[in-house]
Amino acid sequence: MGQGLSCRASDEHGLFIAVQFGDMEAVEALLERDPALLQHTTVYDRHSALHIAAANGQIEILSMLLERSVNPDVLNRHKQTPLMLAAMHGKISCLQKLLEAGANILMFDSLHGRTCLHYAAYYGHSNCLQAILSAAHSSPVAASWGFARFVNVRDGKGATPLHLAARQRRPECVHILLDNGALVCASTGGYGFPGSTPLHLAARGGSLDCIRELLAWGADRLQRDSSGRIPYMVALKHKNGACAALLNPSSVEPIVWPSPLKFISELNQEAKALLEHALMEANREREKNILKGTAYSLASPSHSDAGVDDNVSEGSESELCCICFEQACTIEVQDCGHQMCAQCTLALCCHKKPNPTTACLTPPVCPFCRSTIARLVVAKIKSEDDADQDVGDVSSSKLRKIRRSRNFSNEGSSSFKSLSAVGSFGKIGGRGSGRIAAESEWVDKP
Ligand SMILES: [Zn+2]
Ligand SMILES: [Zn+2]
Repeated sequence: MGQGLSCRASDEHGLFIAVQFGDMEAVEALLERDPALLQHTTVYDRHSALHIAAANGQIEILSMLLERSVNPDVLNRHKQTPLMLAAMHGKISCLQKLLEAGANILMFDSLHGRTCLHYAAYYGHSNCLQAILSAAHSSPVAASWGFARFVNVRDGKGATPLHLAARQRRPECVHILLDNGALVCASTGGYGFPGSTPLHLAARGGSLDCIRELLAWGADRLQRDSSGRIPYMVALKHKNGACAALLNPSSVEPIVWPSPLKFISELNQEAKALLEHALMEANREREKNILKGTAYSLASPSHSDAGVDDNVSEGSESELCCICFEQACTIEVQDCGHQMCAQCTLALCCHKKPNPTTACLTPPVCPFCRSTIARLVVAKIKSEDDADQDVGDVSSSKLRKIRRSRNFSNEGSSSFKSLSAVGSFGKIGGRGSGRIAAESEWVDKP
């Protein structure tokens, strides 16, 4: 009998090794000899074969195990599911396979009370994070818990996935979570520093990119943690000087993504990417001014100047924006069809700062015809035929550019050029864009 036991123990060990290294033949041979091996787990952590396959990204073996009706939500010693291990190790194909097999995304481990979403955010596997969020839309969790609640699910210490991503310096995950409705000012009320917001944890982690993302989504620089500290003080304490400069309440406030606007929430991927890029560029310009003269230089200098020149290269067929005369029209207002560059569109939407308490924002209207903006889409590049009607396009736009730079060269310290350009918009006049509302009519409109 003792011999039988040790034989079984070595088979068991052999199975786990074969699963780990993806030796399908060996796995199948062992299971054929003793199908009951499937129920076995490792001695200490109590990992099942499915856990080991998921953690090591052995997709073939994982699929085979699932086909043999292994429970996708089998638990190890720490009540971790194979899905959590796949999210932890960034094994995206295994994660997707488990989701397809109906793995439950709303299980909590016994270590920190974390879900698979926490794991993906903590370890910074943005593709896994995205896959779980996509699955959450259609899973029973959306019906029982609601998607918004799932995105903001808390671990045992009150941390949401956004808190963990911010703390662990995972800007991509921070972005995806915010984009999916993560609450930017959520307070832990317990995590390490009780009552910390994601901004407090980003200040501690020291990731400028995370701080940029959070500020662009309206994170509050003045919110205090349970020790009464604002994020600025946390950054100072952890000697994250550049972060502290941005978090200093006396430094210029960044532009905030106008998420309360209906047409902003309904943007298609392409238009959204353009506007988000414009937002980050505009905020980088502000950062340059904030960090100028301090000991901190930007980790990644802005390339916005080069980008501008590319956009209005001589050969460009897209029209020059009639508001700033600097950038090409990339955004079209619907239903009227008027076009602007992404920067000016953003300036228009951010002209009124959203009220954080009511999340209400007066929607802007089209600056050219004052019609209601129903949608923003990416402007189609004009064809050769259309361009014909703009004879002398290049030379006239050059002229305007020169005139513009004369008009605005001493416009003050505002780093967001489009905003300052808006004020003198009426003086320059539009081109091929129909009737233009007089500046006084709309610029300071409540
Ligand atoms: Zn413009
Ligand atoms: Zn219009």
